[in-house]
Amino acid sequence: MYLETIHLTKTLPCLAEPGKIIVIGKPNRSLDLVIPYLATLPGVLAYNPETLTLTFRRPSGFLTLYPDKVYLTQITNEQEGRQVLTDLVAAINATWEHRSELVAVTRPKRAPNHLDIWQLLPRTNCQACGERTCLAFAVGLVQRTRSVDECPILLRDTAFAERKETLEAML
Ligand code: SF4
Repeated sequence: MYLETIHLTKTLPCLAEPGKIIVIGKPNRSLDLVIPYLATLPGVLAYNPETLTLTFRRPSGFLTLYPDKVYLTQITNEQEGRQVLTDLVAAINATWEHRSELVAVTRPKRAPNHLDIWQLLPRTNCQACGERTCLAFAVGLVQRTRSVDECPILLRDTAFAERKETLEAML
């Protein structure tokens, strides 16, 4: 067994999806050793082996793993969040037990598309970044012609701090 629990430590409103929440969990031990093996699983959107940040697409929303925390978007309520964290512990332990059959990933993967990125933007279309829409800004991020810091909402509004961190991990 690699870890016992991931405690739900915090929830935030999911501003882009009214009524949904963002769930943040803390594993009872660092995920640093298992993340390179988890990066072999299907559904990986982005992986940075230097920072050990790994993002998966979920049926709705995203799951991002850091060595010291887990971040889930578009969760219906705390009950669902706790269940997803419990399922994640089982998946992490199963991956760790089968690690001898896996080849740890050492290369970065960056494959988000502009719609993946757009889902994490504020989606207000306020045009403060100089683009007409958040979708246009998302295309610029994927094409590397814009940077996350050029959205002043993401940069200054603390409600978007976690989402900004996830975007930076994905890009
Ligand atoms: S500044 Fe941010 S919120 Fe406003 S349009 Fe640009 S990407 Fe969207």
